[in-house]
Amino acid sequence: MGMSGNDDDYEREETFEDDLYLVCHRCGKELEPGKGDWYQVSIKAVADPDVPGIDTDMSLYDISREIGDIVESVKGATERELLDDVYRNVTLHLCRPCFREWIEDPARR
Ligand SMILES: [Zn+2]
Repeated sequence: MGMSGNDDDYEREETFEDDLYLVCHRCGKELEPGKGDWYQVSIKAVADPDVPGIDTDMSLYDISREIGDIVESVKGATERELLDDVYRNVTLHLCRPCFREWIEDPARR
């Protein structure tokens, strides 16, 4: 015994964060759904696709299996953390003025 996981609690926490009110990621202005004056930006980031062993056509599941071997040799890092190193999907919310500035030069620091 001792295998009773608490997945329900974990999922509830994740969605709770999504349900919080939206703010612009740049200026912090509050964004109202349905008002049409802000943008949702999805960023898909994949680590250097030319690194041997990482096939970006693979599914996330395949990638996580692929790095499973590495995980065993890396002390203290979870599989999830290593996966985040290779593949990240980030969603930003930007108000219209911030979006217009940002989209012209997304890589600016
Ligand atoms: Zn803004």
